[in-house]
Amino acid sequence: MQLANNDLLKLHNYIGGEWCAGAGTVEVRDPANGDLLAEVADGSAADAERAVAAASAAFPAWKSKTAAERAAVLKRWYQLIMDNVDDLARILTLEQGKPLAEAKGEIVYGASFIEWFAEECRRAYGQTIPTHNPAMRLNTIRQPVGVVTCITPWNFPNAMITRKAAPALAAGCTVVIKPAVETPLSALALCQLAEEAGLPKGTINMIVGSDAPAIGKVLTQDPRVAKFTFTGSTAVGKLLMAQCASTVKKMSMELGGNAPFIVFDDADLDTAVSACVATKFRNAGQTCVSTNRIYVHETVHDAFVDKLRAAMGELKVGHGCDEGVTVGPLIHRRAAERVNTLVRDAVEMGAKVELGGDYRPIGENYFAPTLLTGVSDEMRIAREEIFGPLAPVQKFADEEDVIRRANDTPYGLAAYVMSENIRRANRVVEALEYGMVACNAGVFSTTVAPFGGCKESGIGREGGVEGMAEFYETKYCCFGA
Ligand code: ADP
Repeated sequence: MQLANNDLLKLHNYIGGEWCAGAGTVEVRDPANGDLLAEVADGSAADAERAVAAASAAFPAWKSKTAAERAAVLKRWYQLIMDNVDDLARILTLEQGKPLAEAKGEIVYGASFIEWFAEECRRAYGQTIPTHNPAMRLNTIRQPVGVVTCITPWNFPNAMITRKAAPALAAGCTVVIKPAVETPLSALALCQLAEEAGLPKGTINMIVGSDAPAIGKVLTQDPRVAKFTFTGSTAVGKLLMAQCASTVKKMSMELGGNAPFIVFDDADLDTAVSACVATKFRNAGQTCVSTNRIYVHETVHDAFVDKLRAAMGELKVGHGCDEGVTVGPLIHRRAAERVNTLVRDAVEMGAKVELGGDYRPIGENYFAPTLLTGVSDEMRIAREEIFGPLAPVQKFADEEDVIRRANDTPYGLAAYVMSENIRRANRVVEALEYGMVACNAGVFSTTVAPFGGCKESGIGREGGVEGMAEFYETKYCCFGA
């Protein structure tokens, strides 16, 4: 791997400020062509225990620093990430597959959490409470929860780490992170820069490894851990929630989605199409807020489909490092196979392929951007999270009916509404049972706003003022006469 700064290519676990080998190694491969990129340490449950011990030992000193002192270190970390953005983006594209420009966007987005929470931690105000008894004085103070453990996915190998670690560290917590086995290099490079920034030994620890269940048991069950935060599938999230129950850990869960994208007859169709392409094909459709069901009013259906087909025709599939590529491979063969199964199931049930539909067009992990019409709510493609470059379009006739259909899912992460009518837009945004609703926009994630879902899409929020609150305990202090 050719980098300007070779220090960023780290291959070991990071525990208590030391780079540690594992019992064996795990291969990291380029999903676009299967090339071997590196072999990293295979961390174990015992390594995870050592990491928790290191985080626990580092906690008293880190929490005792002033917010300004913690902020200074975090800002150095932010700056180092920005200084190395090209290398970090290249590592990300090589191990994850997304186009280089998108990878760069993720590094900048990821870094923005560090900068923002470094600023936000200086405003961890408590309250003075008007007393219920003249002889007593009441107040609240906010204190860091303690050791925080994080398990993160492969679809945003950088930003899903900083979105958790930055507020935790800013609040005065110490962290242990287990990134996805597919994308450890982006994660370890972040640790290298954290070390250079001066984060004290043990404040940030990372275990890379193939045995996620064993490492996960330690991170969710060790009594020294105060809070567990996870981004991944709903199925794994449920399992980890159950594991956290044994020691009543605080939890944040960012889980799966099934995002509806509703185009009303009063929508600006060009805006709707560009929003749809942005939410659908970013990261080849592998984001938890990717549009999963496109509902278009019957009177504008054909016009919308024509415009979407034309816009999708401009997408260029290929290796993320190649010039002009906008859609990379899927993360692995299993993912491409699953997308293929969903398309075949939909076609068997009557859907029509308007564009694409090709399984492995240029390599075994690829699926061509695909436009389907005649989709119905009964198809697997409408009920399950797709996580691939498929745009399945359905018709609707009535506002109330489409809201009911949009809400008819156990998920509640993101939803999209396209309408130029402000009354309708407000009405529908409020009626959708989702943690986040974007109106006339396809990309909405930002450091300064709370990201998260309701129903089976999760618990808690990341980013914004809410994202900081997740890492504090509010202590009520009562002073007697
Ligand atoms: P995805 O389908 O996006 O890979 P997963 O929920 O399987 O989503 O994975 C998200 C993260 O959870 C990854 O870091 C993965 O290694 C980890 N993981 C998967 N299964 C378990 C488990 N049983 N215990 C702990 N972590 C797990």
